[in-house]
Amino acid sequence: MSLYDFPCEYCEGMVRERTLDREPISHHRGIVVLENVPIGVCEHCGAHYYAAAVLKRVEAILTSTTPASRTLQVPVEVY
Ligand SMILES: [Zn+2]
Repeated sequence: MSLYDFPCEYCEGMVRERTLDREPISHHRGIVVLENVPIGVCEHCGAHYYAAAVLKRVEAILTSTTPASRTLQVPVEVY
């Protein structure tokens, strides 16, 4: 049984589980890149959805409860 498989909030599509190699996930504390992570992707508009367990993992990393195995440097620029 999938954590996802529900109607998209933004269109008429259905959200399906997909495991992504690398997904940057924003949280109010910051951004974490999770690798090999199962997320929900709308098959029509492509919107991404994150299950509560995934967001808990992101929060645990950002609060150093379970520190990340490595850190990336990300360039930032005003467009
Ligand atoms: Zn959609």
